[in-house]
Amino acid sequence: MSNPEQNKSQNKPQKKKMHMTTKILIWMVAGLVVGSVINTFASDIAWVQDYLVNGLFLVVGSMFIHLLKMLVVPLVTFSLICGVCGIGDIQKLGRVGGKAFALFMLTTALAITLAIAVASLFGPGEGFELASAASNTFSAPVSPPLTQVLIDLIPSNPIEAYATGNMLQIIFFTILFAVCVLMVGDVGKPIADAAERLNAVMMEVVNVVMHLAPIGVFALMAKTFSLQGIGMIIPMLSYFGVLVFVLLLHVTGTLMILLKVLGRVNPLTFLKKMRTTQIFAFSTSSSNATIPVTLQATQKRLGVDNSTASFIVPFGATINMDGTAMMQGVATVFIANVYGIDLGLSGYLTVIGMSVLASIGTAGVPGVGLIMLAMVFNQVGLPVEGIALIMGVDRLLDMIRTAVNVTGDAAITTIVARSEDSIDMDVFENPNAGSTEDVHLPSA
Ligand code: ASP
Repeated sequence: MSNPEQNKSQNKPQKKKMHMTTKILIWMVAGLVVGSVINTFASDIAWVQDYLVNGLFLVVGSMFIHLLKMLVVPLVTFSLICGVCGIGDIQKLGRVGGKAFALFMLTTALAITLAIAVASLFGPGEGFELASAASNTFSAPVSPPLTQVLIDLIPSNPIEAYATGNMLQIIFFTILFAVCVLMVGDVGKPIADAAERLNAVMMEVVNVVMHLAPIGVFALMAKTFSLQGIGMIIPMLSYFGVLVFVLLLHVTGTLMILLKVLGRVNPLTFLKKMRTTQIFAFSTSSSNATIPVTLQATQKRLGVDNSTASFIVPFGATINMDGTAMMQGVATVFIANVYGIDLGLSGYLTVIGMSVLASIGTAGVPGVGLIMLAMVFNQVGLPVEGIALIMGVDRLLDMIRTAVNVTGDAAITTIVARSEDSIDMDVFENPNAGSTEDVHLPSA
């Protein structure tokens, strides 16, 4: 005879587990579909625009971006202090920082060289109808001169740097401060301990915010795609196609080879574990706003030790922009072709050097890569007005290149951690490690 209690429990709805990543992915695609449908069928229906696109999607999406940005400055500060103090000795710190910096520059240079080579092969922009595409209302972005970028590395007032969220200046000051915490020995110990506690609390805040991620990602995608129809890509297909192709090539080729050869880790495992981070970067178009998620992924999913990740991730999010450099490479070839200008080898070498420097000065926020492109164009004598041509498709490309930027940051963090033996390979190889943010959905 069957036990009624048992029957009752069998009839209860089963709890089904769904990974946070899967949930975010579903909501992201839903947002993309809803946005595209609105763009195609409802772009002149007033209430859809007022209440949905510029109402609900705008408010929820912006609130979510604010939530992420809210985490960045305190998280970067505490995590950098923890990172520096956790590494513990100045010599090791210099070595880890030096390796990370060298690899950031190397990958950015490789990325842009690949971009220019492939773009020169495909020749995007050749035979482009300039008159029909140029915009009359364009005002060229004004880029800061390189000298100013260098001077601005150092904050004249750290409080101002914190208040305005100037990441390069915050990083400069915080690393210097943390190194001095180490140098003063016992006196600095309570500060290092406090930073560790504060960092743990901030990581918990990240966890809480992550629970809202699916809704936030949905709203951001729906808003972007309601305003930007996929159709705008068509006249720019050659530029768009070549750029997306080289971006993918960098992630699935260059970075994978570096991970395998220098990092001696399985690149596919790495790629799988980066999915949530890439989705975040894609939907926010901001490496900075993605720092909390990149930190979580490198520590909990990839097994990089906390101090190493805490030190390298914010550093990379601020100075390492492989995707942005690739955009600048392809854009240079495209605009040179459109205007029929031959840059020659020395011109392209200048572009490579400038883009590597520009990537240091490019803040990890939406659209800045385009402003820094003006600096590159100025340097090689390309018409800055040419940027008007690529502006229309830049929103979408910004999303893709930001995902590439953060993948580069995490790849270098993994490689450096491996070379320092600061990565737990059991965690790296465990497919479920760090996916504790599973959510439970009652099945129907
Ligand atoms: N949005 C990019 C990032 O945050 C920067 C850019 O290319 O505009 O990484």
